[in-house]
Amino acid sequence: MARKLLLTHIDVPGIEGFEVYRQQGGYRAVEKAVKTMTPDDVVEEVKKSGLRGRGGAGFPTGMKWSFLAKPEGVARYLVCNADESEPGTFKDRYLMTKIPHALIEGMIVSSYALGANTSYIYVRGEMMPQIRILEKAIAEAKAAGFLGKNILGKGYDLEIYVQPGGGAYICGEETALLESLEGKRGNPRIKPPFPAVAGLYGCPTVVNNVESIAATVPIINDGGEEYAKIGIERSTGTKLISASGNLVKPGVYEIELGLPVEEFIYSDEYCGGIANGKRLKAVVAGGSSVPILPANLVFKTANGENRLMTYESLADGGFQTGTMMGSGGFIAYDEDQCIVRNTWNFTRFYHHESCGQCSPCREGTGWMEKVLHNIESGKGSMEEIDLLWDIQRKIEGNTICPLGDAAAWPVAAAIRHFRDEFEWHITHPEEAQKRNFGLAHYAEPRQPVV
Ligand code: SF4
Repeated sequence: MARKLLLTHIDVPGIEGFEVYRQQGGYRAVEKAVKTMTPDDVVEEVKKSGLRGRGGAGFPTGMKWSFLAKPEGVARYLVCNADESEPGTFKDRYLMTKIPHALIEGMIVSSYALGANTSYIYVRGEMMPQIRILEKAIAEAKAAGFLGKNILGKGYDLEIYVQPGGGAYICGEETALLESLEGKRGNPRIKPPFPAVAGLYGCPTVVNNVESIAATVPIINDGGEEYAKIGIERSTGTKLISASGNLVKPGVYEIELGLPVEEFIYSDEYCGGIANGKRLKAVVAGGSSVPILPANLVFKTANGENRLMTYESLADGGFQTGTMMGSGGFIAYDEDQCIVRNTWNFTRFYHHESCGQCSPCREGTGWMEKVLHNIESGKGSMEEIDLLWDIQRKIEGNTICPLGDAAAWPVAAAIRHFRDEFEWHITHPEEAQKRNFGLAHYAEPRQPVV
């Protein structure tokens, strides 16, 4: 059995409550950090661990923390990005629902490291049950002396507030999130300045993902070097994966980074194979914004090496023959899935969620959606495939925030790897209109399997 660091006690009855969490060793990391370490010691351990941001970008967390400006007399903030809403990604919601104190404990450790006395958890507005769960967990931690004034008698003060999100996917982009947290429309800011210098209310701010913050707990408990022993190269530790699509056992899994993709899909410990005995056609490995991989590149890289669940191995081959770890939203497509239709569905999402500030994203996503729908419904032309390629190229790299790239990459990869499928829709218009093509189910399954 693979090691678990975040979901170790997930099956213990009552683990969502303070008492049981504490009995299982909870809040030891806060005691260790506040009583025996300086804030810089905590930052150093996180650096040693090699932890990389689990929200999608994969930037080293300790390094991000060390960029935080520390001007005299100016407040610093930690903001937890819990605005998870990318199609195929539901791991943070699972963690917050099942073991909320892991996040609260990580918030205290991380806030202490950054010198923040006020921190926020910005939770997707639709996640009302999770908002209530977190508020209860904060009240329990405060009653036990782990939050509030003079934590554990060591003179450190911290308040954590839960803020319901503004109801838009773009509010998960860190600067849009900060705008929304300040009570404004969630439009991404032009960078620089970066949040580490001028973030929330113009003050130095770190924005970290739920899973990244929770991961600081085992790092402080066991030490950064121990954490770094798990995984391969620059992909250290464990990672939560939201597995969905045509799998026998979709759900949320904690894997050790370095696990072969083939083992993740086919072993009984994880997804148990492709549902209904069908063949694998393609995989979206890191949430809807990463390039799709055709089956022949899922288990082996173009160089013939085993494809592993690491940042490096998934990206091997660049966008020509590789993809990205992203948020860990792993969607498997069986042989009956229509890539054109699924790509159209993703594009429809990005068009709907574009904030509209930049014209390449605002106009381009709408244009791509229309062209994809045309082709998918058997009314397209060969020229439109080239038009689609041209539009996505003009979006990529030409926008204020990464949503533009996130919309462009799946379209580019779908054309690159499945051009024949686009052409089939054009050369077989009547069949394309009649056939009931599949649309992979990438919502959270009702019974997550760990
Ligand atoms: Fe808004 Fe799209 Fe521009 Fe991002 S890329 S700022 S979502 S218009």
